[in-house]
Order: sequence, then structure tokens, then C-alpha cells
Amino acid sequence: MTVPADFSYETRPVRVVFRPGAVVTATPDEAGRLGLRRLLVVCGGRGEPTARTVAQALGDACVGVHAEARMHVPADVADRAVDVARAAGADGCVAVGGGSAIGLGKAIALRTRLPLIAVPSTYSGSEMTPVWGLTDHGVKRTGRDPVVQPRSVVYDPELTLSLPVPLTVTSGINAVAHAVEALYAPDASPLISLMAQEGVRAMAGALPSVAADPGDLDARGRALYGAWLCGACLGATTMGLHHKLCHVLGGTFGLPHAPTHTVVLPYVLAHNAPAAPAAVAALSGALGAQDVPRALWELAGRLGAPRSLAELGLEREDLAVAAAQVAGLPYANPRPVTADGVLGVLTAAYEGREPDSAGAPG
Ligand code: NAD
Repeated sequence: MTVPADFSYETRPVRVVFRPGAVVTATPDEAGRLGLRRLLVVCGGRGEPTARTVAQALGDACVGVHAEARMHVPADVADRAVDVARAAGADGCVAVGGGSAIGLGKAIALRTRLPLIAVPSTYSGSEMTPVWGLTDHGVKRTGRDPVVQPRSVVYDPELTLSLPVPLTVTSGINAVAHAVEALYAPDASPLISLMAQEGVRAMAGALPSVAADPGDLDARGRALYGAWLCGACLGATTMGLHHKLCHVLGGTFGLPHAPTHTVVLPYVLAHNAPAAPAAVAALSGALGAQDVPRALWELAGRLGAPRSLAELGLEREDLAVAAAQVAGLPYANPRPVTADGVLGVLTAAYEGREPDSAGAPG
């Protein structure tokens, strides 16, 4: 790797604990280290049994379990959770679950400044970022604020054993997407690029093993390790065309988060590849493949993930609307973003055809 002549890198005060069983053994310790004695545990409906186990492990340091997290953090859900935290006199929160549960914990932190401990159960990476999101009247707003960055992250591979294979695969490729865009981000730095390569290598290596045997704890550990690294890349850099496209497809058209990332990634990468040779070389090494967009497309297909936006429910007439929205947004991307270029990427992703690694029209 050549050392860039000009970069900056900032670390945030986050403690990470990673071990099987940590959800019960480490969470109370993390609360103790932070001096927290009145924690509200937040989760989604499906995560409630695990959240109750955490609450039990916290003992007297838990003031309640609030199981109302929903995808994209609707504003009324956030308002209710803030009221519950205040009424309980909470001095901190523990979010147990995927990006939706952690998103709810962040929404509480944003309004109350209460410290947050995250116990992630998917590979979304939200636990490693200072990014919050809130959806009001169908419009999703996001922002960065250090106050929402979890102070402590408890990674427990055992917690991910129950993650169904389809979600494992799409959530894993969602993580890979963070690393891909970090490699060509305007604020990329050497340490982040190393983490991105290692994250992609770990995740792409683990996913086939998890798909073959969802109870393989070693493979689950490698996937979660990859998710940590990819999440750290997301938190440290500015994302480009891929994340903006997925944001619009999720926010405006209601497409599911991780499957949308999975479908779109190979096409955005094929589009950006001619303008990001160093990123492509790094990914080629991490994946052990010459044709990186095609390798990602094949990985997803081989593991049974959806391959087209049509499968996810998008209509052909939505493509031009989405392209116009995305092309109108200001953001960094290695290749200039034009309406035609975005429409080319979207059309290929809609049809799910093999990505054209020579680069889509620009
Ligand atoms: P999610 O949290 O909505 O979880 C998806 C589904 O999986 C849910 O039904 C959940 O109950 C279930 N689930 C989660 N863990 C499970 C487990 N271990 N076993 C069985 N079922 C389990 O989805 P996600 O993909 O983790 O997160 C998506 C959300 O997170 C989106 O709203 C996205 O915008 C947000 N996000 C935010 C950031 C950020 O930095 N702010 C980063 C990534 C994602």
C-alpha cells in the first residue's frame, strides 16, 4: 500500500469488548465502568427475550425494558422512548439488537445526552458511529453528533447465532458496503483502509461458513469481527453514492435496509471502479478476486440473497424518480454523479444482471 501524503484521523472514546457470552458477563461491568446505576434497556419486539436477560444481569442497575424499537426510528417512537427514560429517572441506556434498536438508543441520547451502551445483534455497524437517524412523516433525517456514539460496545457472537441466514447474508454485505465506500472516501486514512480490507476479508470469508452452518460459533465470531471493523470505517469516513442511493431507496420507496445494500453494492462499485483504482486493488486483495463487483454479486447470489431491486418491490417507473433525487444531492463520490450515471446504476440493479465491471455510463 502506498502511504497517502495528506490525511487526518480522529479516534473517539469507545470501549469495545468482544467475547462469547459477553452479553451477560460484560454488560454489567461496562455499566459499572461508566458509573451508571439506572439503565433503561431498549430493544425491538423480537429482541425482548435477550434484552430481559441483559436486564436481569444488570440487576438493580436496570430501571426497565422498553421493547418498542422500529426500523428507521419513527419520531413518535423516539418521543415515547425519551418520555420513558425520563420518567424512569434513567442515567443511561443499553440498546440490545440491530441498527433499529441502537438507533432508538441514539435517539434517546440525542435528546437527553444520556450515555449509551450498545449490544449489537446484527452486522449493521451503527454501534460504531456518531450518526443518528429519525423518520418523520415519511422523511428520514440523519446527522452526526458525538453524544450518540455508544461509549461502550459489547460484541457477543453467541447473540448472533439466532440471526436467520438471509438476514445474516444481507446484513453482512451491508457491512461490506461501509468498508467499500470508506476505501474511496474523501476522508479515508491509512488505518481506516487497513480496517476496511480486513473487515471485508473477514466478512466475505465468514458468510459462506455461517450460511452452511448457522450454529458455527467460530464463523459467527469472524463475521461479527468483520462487522466491527466495517462499522468503524462507517463511523470514521464520509459515505458516497452507494449509501445515498440506499438511503433514498429505503426512505422514499420503503425498501428493506440490508437487502437493498446487498443488491445495489456491486453496481455502484462497477460504476465507481474506474475512478477508484486503489480501492479496487485493496478489495481485490481482500476478496481474492480480480473482478471485484462480480465477486460481490456472485457471493450474494451463491448465498441466496436477493439480486434485483425488482425482487425487493421497486417498480420500473420508480427508477427515474430515484435517480433524479440522488443526482440532486450534494455528496462526495470518486466519480462525478450525473442523472444518467445514477439511472444506469439503478436500472442494472433493478434488473439484477451481471455487473459491468468496465464501468456503467457516467
Ligand atoms: P434491524 O435492527 O431492523 O433488524 C432486522 C430484523 O432482524 C428485525 O426484525 C430484528 O428483530 C431482527 N434481529 C436482529 N438481531 C437478531 C438476532 N440476533 N436474531 C434474530 N433476529 C434478529 O436491522 P439492521 O439491518 O440491523 O439495522 C437497520 C437500521 O439501522 C436502519 O434503520 C438503518 O438506517 C440503521 N443503521 C444506522 C446506522 C448508523 O450509523 N446510524 C448504521 C447502519 C444502519
